[in-house]
Amino acid sequence: MILLDGLATSKQIKQEIAAEVRQLQAQGHRVPHLAAVLIGENGASLTYVNAKVKACEEVGFQSTLVQRSADISEVDLLKLVDELNNNPDIDGYIIQLPLPKHINEHRVLLAIHPEKDVDGFHPENVGRMALGLPCYLPATPAGILELLKRYQVPTAGKHCVVIGRSHIVGLPMSILLQRNANPGNCTVTITHSKTTNLPELCREADIIVAALGKPEFLTADMVKEGAAVIDVGITRVPDSSKKSGFRLAGDVDFAGVSPKCSFITPVPGGVGPMTIVSLLMNTLEACKRRI
Ligand code: NAP
Repeated sequence: MILLDGLATSKQIKQEIAAEVRQLQAQGHRVPHLAAVLIGENGASLTYVNAKVKACEEVGFQSTLVQRSADISEVDLLKLVDELNNNPDIDGYIIQLPLPKHINEHRVLLAIHPEKDVDGFHPENVGRMALGLPCYLPATPAGILELLKRYQVPTAGKHCVVIGRSHIVGLPMSILLQRNANPGNCTVTITHSKTTNLPELCREADIIVAALGKPEFLTADMVKEGAAVIDVGITRVPDSSKKSGFRLAGDVDFAGVSPKCSFITPVPGGVGPMTIVSLLMNTLEACKRRI
């Protein structure tokens, strides 16, 4: 079993990005600049945004955290989006999800200029991804592809079962893995909560991407010998032995599943750090496009 070490890989990629930033500076260019918009005080969202800002600092990017209270109106948030679209100093920005219930998430994402949409959530970027055209890929699936590529996990001709069809993980992952590319060329089965024969499908899979958000859902009896397993899930599970009062659990029962696997990602330290690094890669790309 080979552990797909997202933490070590992300550190390596950050060094590569930092070297590119130094090169840009040596050529007299400004450094890439990412803005992150955080609405409200959701603890998990704050943790994710802080991790993104910290990652920017590590590679020499400029970063701006824009915080607004949870009672911001949709009109005011759309004004903020407009300002960010038109701010020439910002190469790309993200709006941390979820948004408060009174705000139409779709309307806000649609207002982001596709060229600054480094999360890759705008329909124009999603459409370009589906057609294999240049675009910003959504960070989590892009991070998984990078991990598969760097560890040379074989994908061509393999049967991949993706569990979950969300717009940010499952759906784009299934599109990217079936593309005529490397990594790619998988035969993909995308599954969801209405899928009736999930254990049977999983047992036929060479690659399983678990992205449903149910702790330790994928158990050893659902995995065939030699499969590659990518665990996207991150759920806070109450744990009184931890100072924080919780531990992070993946969607895979790692102890049971890992002995059967050819490759597997841990949680934490697998897909999570790769997601952040993909955002940095998109921001670097956004900056280079504007030079
Ligand atoms: P989501 O929007 O809640 O989507 C979950 C998907 O799983 C849905 O498509 C749902 O089906 C499906 N599902 C739920 N129960 C199922 C079951 N019993 N069998 C099969 N499919 C089932 O979640 P998400 O945003 O994609 O995130 C999924 C997990 O990944 C979460 O734990 C999240 O925290 C984590 N995540 C991690 C990263 C990272 O960087 N590591 C990034 C993003 C998300 P329906 O469509 O039928 O409801």
